Amino acid sequence: MRRFHGFLMCLLIAGAHGCGSPAVERRASGALPTNVVLLVGDGFGVGAWTLAREWARASGVETVLDTPEALGFLTPHYDGGLVTDSAAASTAWSAGRLVPRFTIGADGKAPLFVDLANAGWSCGFVTTMRVTHATPAPFYAVTEHRDNEDEIAAQLVGARLPVAIGGGARHFLPDGDGGSRGDDRNLVHEAELAGITVLREFHAPLPPGAPVLGLLAPSHLPHEIDRGDGPDLPELAVAAIRRLQAEGRPWFLLVEEGSIDLAAHDFDAPSIAFDGVRLDRTVRAVLDATDRATTLVIVTADHATSNPVLLESARPESLGVVRASVRAMEQQIFEGESWNGTPDGLEEKALPIVDRGAGLTHLSPEDLDRLVAATNAYDRAAALGLAVSRRFGITFLPYDDLLRSDQVHGHTADLVPIRAWGPRAQDVRGVADHARIGRWLREVTRLPAAPR
Ligand SMILES: [Zn+2]
Repeated sequence: MRRFHGFLMCLLIAGAHGCGSPAVERRASGALPTNVVLLVGDGFGVGAWTLAREWARASGVETVLDTPEALGFLTPHYDGGLVTDSAAASTAWSAGRLVPRFTIGADGKAPLFVDLANAGWSCGFVTTMRVTHATPAPFYAVTEHRDNEDEIAAQLVGARLPVAIGGGARHFLPDGDGGSRGDDRNLVHEAELAGITVLREFHAPLPPGAPVLGLLAPSHLPHEIDRGDGPDLPELAVAAIRRLQAEGRPWFLLVEEGSIDLAAHDFDAPSIAFDGVRLDRTVRAVLDATDRATTLVIVTADHATSNPVLLESARPESLGVVRASVRAMEQQIFEGESWNGTPDGLEEKALPIVDRGAGLTHLSPEDLDRLVAATNAYDRAAALGLAVSRRFGITFLPYDDLLRSDQVHGHTADLVPIRAWGPRAQDVRGVADHARIGRWLREVTRLPAAPR
């Protein structure tokens, strides 16, 4: 990792230890970690972080993301341009090389978890997304496109990871049997026949011994505001740590809070804040459950999304009135269909729902026009999210530019933070790209340097 020793960065990292303190110097030059936790906030750029921490401050919650031992920044580049998707970013972390967007894994390179397992490490992941989704998949699978989730599911069963927990059961079950697979394979049965413990509901501690595959929802797990008493990401992460510790070998855990990116695509400022605070709570739980002398904890993002902006009029302290995500309100209003009636009819149906869900008592004629014109759930949620977020004085990249923009729907080229605690934490200072982080992960886990 390139170091940046400038005065500004010194100020930024001064929080816990101060620049040049003996502890910092010893770690920077010294011991490698025995264990690694990589936490990813999908879409958690500086705007999302700002929103989450202002909500936390307003509600009296202390955040741990403000006080890493070291802070740096990553460029969201991919092989072909400035703005990555999750698959290419995650592949760069796993393989140490920039690849084209939407790619899972790099040609001629084993995924990180395969190389680590061969070197005696226990590896696993927990995610709020489908276990076959773009962030976890490149750590254990190789396929040309992130949409090949049926195939990725088969590769996950074959990988026999000690812990793999998230949503996404639909890619493990045939059509008509609660799933959506394009073939007749029942991967839940296949996994069980292969000695893997398949959990459809979470309970801690995780069963010992056999690999654990947790499929806790048909698709993604819910946003924090819609979670109810469903499993919380901090408890999933700590249960996974305990399970990996029980293996008695060095271990590597990937933890993904992926709902932030979904919220940002929906212009859902409240859920960005709540899911961002869930990431912060998860980082705190991971730090509490591990030993700083042996475990390197890294928190970063693949890219920023939609760039939430808090203008002078922003009122993050008011977010406490929110009771539902924008996506949940969109589903309640539209029930999976475009609106066929008049804008007035839509207003009549929507207002009680958005009032109950977000204290929103007015939809402008422009809001209603956008909602009527939208032809899919994605655009309807984005139009509704704009109205909800505006109620709290929070805005985003221009809606029309964004819907027209590109294949990643408003991911941006903004630098994203990378934070670290523990052995070799200081290495993250400065500015790097995702591939450099991937090569560094191989260095600190003592894997041989792979050819680029
Ligand atoms: Zn995205």
